[in-house]
Amino acid sequence: KLYVQPIIHVDTGHIAGFEALIRWFHSERGFVSPGDFIPVAEETDLIVPIGRWVMQEACRLLKMLQDAANQVQPEADDLFMSINVSGRQFSEPGFIEEAAEIMENAGINPARVKLEITETFLLSYGASRQWIERCREMGTSVALDDFGTGYSSLSYLLYFPIDVLKIDRTFVQQMAESERGAAIVRSIVTMAHNLDMSVVAEGIEEASQLDSLGDMACDFGQGYYMSRPLPADDALALLGKPLPVTPPA
Ligand code: C2E
Ligand code: MG
Ligand code: MG
Repeated sequence: KLYVQPIIHVDTGHIAGFEALIRWFHSERGFVSPGDFIPVAEETDLIVPIGRWVMQEACRLLKMLQDAANQVQPEADDLFMSINVSGRQFSEPGFIEEAAEIMENAGINPARVKLEITETFLLSYGASRQWIERCREMGTSVALDDFGTGYSSLSYLLYFPIDVLKIDRTFVQQMAESERGAAIVRSIVTMAHNLDMSVVAEGIEEASQLDSLGDMACDFGQGYYMSRPLPADDALALLGKPLPVTPPA
């Protein structure tokens, strides 16, 4: 199943878009985490058909969510959908043409889709850059997921035309623990803005983290404090109101 997790504007709390997150409810094993099965799907190449299904389903859900959002907040920008893409999918010939066709069939604007990649994706330098440029030509932006973990070479930011940085939750969760954690998040936000990128803070679990991110002028926020990943039908109920709806006690 494909779940969606709201991504809010930090300054208003209004939903800006969603991240599509795959869920596997196994008949005997129960819930299997994508952290467990996505790596296996990558090794076995099953990620290619799975990724295709994710793209189709995410675009279909985006259309449904946009139509519903336009009823409750017609003056707002259309919602976006952020979709995780594995490195293995990117080396698949025709990926971009296929993605463009899926978006067109779903009736959504490619500019409202963000493709989330991780650093390992950027290892094949020339091909990765070309891929990112082709996405941007069709209006789709590219987000660097889990930023700050892995090797986080700043040369990636120099060479790749990335639109969005997603700050890994380990930093967000360190903000309150240590002044150094807060300084790192603040610095990433400033650096991203200087490079004309927007920033999403991942893993916000507490009001104080959201407040600090607001002070740092972080653009977008995502985390359990606002909402867990939900089936799209449940996400419909959240549209039009600032999050969190009821601050957790
Ligand atoms: P990710 O792309 O970094 O996704 C964010 C993960 O953080 C999700 O885990 C989400 O449920 C979790 N999360 C969100 N808010 C909070 C919070 O406040 N606290 C904590 N502790 N966690 C939070 P999830 O859904 O288990 O997915 C894990 C990873 O699996 C994703 O990390 C992504 O790399 C991969 N994945 C998920 N869906 C897909 C997919 O459709 N395609 C591909 N290729 N990978 C996917
Ligand atoms: Mg992601
Ligand atoms: Mg992430």
